[in-house]
Amino acid sequence: MKILVQKFGGTSVANLERIELCAKRVIEAYKKGYKPVVVSSAMAGETDSLIELAKKVTPRPPEREMDMLLATGEQRAIALFAMTLQKLGYPAVSLCGWQVPIITDNVHTKARIRKIGVSRLLNLIKEGYIPVVAGFQGVTEDWEITTLGRGGSDTTAVALAAALKADCEINTDVPGVFTADPRIVPRAKKIPKISYEEMLELASLGAKVMQIRSVEFAAKYGVRIHVRSTFSDEEGTWIVPEEEVMEKVVVRGVTSDTNETQFTIVRVPDKPGIAAEIFKTLGDAHIVVDMIVQNVSHDGYTDMSFTVNKNDADKTEELVKKIAQKIGAESVLRDDRVAKISIVGIGMKSAYGVAGRMFEILAKNGINIKAISTSEIKISCLIDEKFTELAVRALHEEFIEEMEEFETIDGNG
Ligand code: ADP
Ligand code: ASP
Ligand code: MG
Repeated sequence: MKILVQKFGGTSVANLERIELCAKRVIEAYKKGYKPVVVSSAMAGETDSLIELAKKVTPRPPEREMDMLLATGEQRAIALFAMTLQKLGYPAVSLCGWQVPIITDNVHTKARIRKIGVSRLLNLIKEGYIPVVAGFQGVTEDWEITTLGRGGSDTTAVALAAALKADCEINTDVPGVFTADPRIVPRAKKIPKISYEEMLELASLGAKVMQIRSVEFAAKYGVRIHVRSTFSDEEGTWIVPEEEVMEKVVVRGVTSDTNETQFTIVRVPDKPGIAAEIFKTLGDAHIVVDMIVQNVSHDGYTDMSFTVNKNDADKTEELVKKIAQKIGAESVLRDDRVAKISIVGIGMKSAYGVAGRMFEILAKNGINIKAISTSEIKISCLIDEKFTELAVRALHEEFIEEMEEFETIDGNG
């Protein structure tokens, strides 16, 4: 029995005509002898409008109720999807996260999957049904509904594929993973094969084509992922173990992320334990801190900057203002108009001079760097948000466009 998890994103199920198109994709796989398990996102824009609605009630809606609300988006989509399959003559059953069940921890709005029960799914498949599972949803041991964070349907799909020992197909609105967001860089090229490690960095650094946790899951359980277009038959991108990627280029992709906010705590007393206090408080509140910069200290004081996800910015501001007062810092500055620009590639492990070239290109374009962070396979710079597209295009041109062996998006939409 060859199970194939087929995930369809929001744009793919944006309306009834498109749902029918997706259903036909599932039927094609069924006819080829696969046992499909469908994972569907909410219809395009739905999660955004639910968030907007909640924010009209209160600017910081309680997270438990947010999950209750957001889960409805996927519930609508799976019901319509299953009805469509049935109309086309294929028995299908829609299932919410709790009905599978997909058990998560209790961190509302960004829950992590702990375990998945597969017996109900396997029984349905054996009886000839096509299960249509809600992406993005989970349930705690105490029967509380949770969601997995924006883009979480990818993680539902990969986790199901791991649990069912199946292959995983991510059907989306672009024909694969590209060397840059094809909506920003029209000359971006489709990457035929990419390693988990590189995909993980690209996803973490703003390539929202795959949710980060989905790639972590895939790497941990060795799930092979095929990212492809819902609207065409062309081969997409395979996300696979590193040893299967023959060619180790220095820069595989360029990404941008405008979803961060930078905070600067001005005139922090420079003594042991202060950084620990700040970042432990944020950690306890489940806030992930990204780029940290501590300036050289003057007269026993220093400025400390860091970035967090925009979704956590209000909560962070509240917490950091309290800490700043407690530790005797002068003030807290907040900048929402920043962008993190990154270049990623496994070949960077053994190349030199890459950072220098990156800084030079930004300088040539008059772009100032506010913070830098690096790992073995990536370099990120924080810049003013208004230069995002300029920076991505310039870096793509410098590091990628001279290479001819990739396909380009030109001509296939
Ligand atoms: P879905 O609704 O199918 O989950 P998403 O909108 O979450 O789709 O992700 C697909 C989008 O990711 C594309 O429309 C594209 O604009 C964006 N994207 C960003 N970076 C990349 C990249 N490097 N390769 C492909 N797509 C990218
Ligand atoms: N509907 C959720 C979102 O928009 C989950 C997903 O689409 O993957 O973030
Ligand atoms: Mg997505």
